[in-house]
Amino acid sequence: MHRLRNSLILVATIVMSTSAFAQPPAPSPQHKWAVVIHGGAGVIERSSMSPEAEKGYRAGMAAALHAATSILDRGGSSVDAVEAAIRILEDDPLFNAGRGAVFAADGTNQLDAAIMDGKTMTAGAVADVTTTRHPISLARAVMEKSPHVMLVGPGADAFARSVGLEQVPPSFFFTERRWQSLVRELQREHLPIPPRPAGAPPAPTHESAFFETPDNHKYGTVGVVALDRAGNVAAGTSTGGLTAKRWDRVGDSPIIGAGTYASNQSCAVSGTGIGEYFIRFTVARTICALVQYKGMTLQAAADLVIQQQLVPIHGDGGVIAIAPDGQMAWSFNTPGMFRARMTEGGKAQIGIYRDEP
Ligand code: ASP
Repeated sequence: MHRLRNSLILVATIVMSTSAFAQPPAPSPQHKWAVVIHGGAGVIERSSMSPEAEKGYRAGMAAALHAATSILDRGGSSVDAVEAAIRILEDDPLFNAGRGAVFAADGTNQLDAAIMDGKTMTAGAVADVTTTRHPISLARAVMEKSPHVMLVGPGADAFARSVGLEQVPPSFFFTERRWQSLVRELQREHLPIPPRPAGAPPAPTHESAFFETPDNHKYGTVGVVALDRAGNVAAGTSTGGLTAKRWDRVGDSPIIGAGTYASNQSCAVSGTGIGEYFIRFTVARTICALVQYKGMTLQAAADLVIQQQLVPIHGDGGVIAIAPDGQMAWSFNTPGMFRARMTEGGKAQIGIYRDEP
């Protein structure tokens, strides 16, 4: 009897432990994906924006948002989402990146971009590229296919060719609106006006054609930060820099820690504004350091740098940011910033002016 009871206990123990083994492993915590986009900050006011232009900007941001969210919703990575959304904005002539980039004083488009993966803390950046259609994809190739972080000028375009990235004639990036902005800026600075670039369309004769969409936004850089379901953040930024820049000037966008930064330990940030201030204040990394070491919320950290540190020195601009726990933030000290965001299960939010949520 005694023996029978012991056997029953043994069988019960085996059954219980087997069923414990048969249980599926506890699921790893799933994050809700989220994404934030900017299309540049600056003097963006209702009074200077035509309804068609406003529609165009909102549609451009919606298209970029769609590109990112469809990747994230399929379980894709934050790096893929950032690259895909920025490629859309680089092809949109309204934004100062890729096609539609501002002109340097010598009449060329010199493009800068960077991308950073918060999971691996690897990064890639390029500056002053002139023939690569999608500088963000080149930055990603630097990150993933070279032992380096940053390549510049003709060497960067040569690397793009070596990895098979699409090359275009420099006139691909030409837009009349940006050209006229260059002419105005050079006249203001009493600098010589270069000839229209080879391959550019002939100058329109009807003046209003240039000014339908006034180019007074100044800092039209594009940037995306994303969080994927695996909990990894990434950031990317792409720009033509500042109108009439000289001497191969490079801004903050491709400088890791200044205009672009991502770490799963803290956050991912992309900036837009006068790059010189963003470089000197290492804006993106400082925001993430405030989150990481001071335990600040993402919004408080972004506001501290953008509103409190940059405003007194006239460091115009803004940032978008995202954290692995799903916090999203934007902060800008200019009248407007083209911006959009969405989180899994939520509604897309697109804004331009300061008084929008
Ligand atoms: N931050 C960019 C730069 O200084 C410009 C911009 O944001 O539009 O190159």
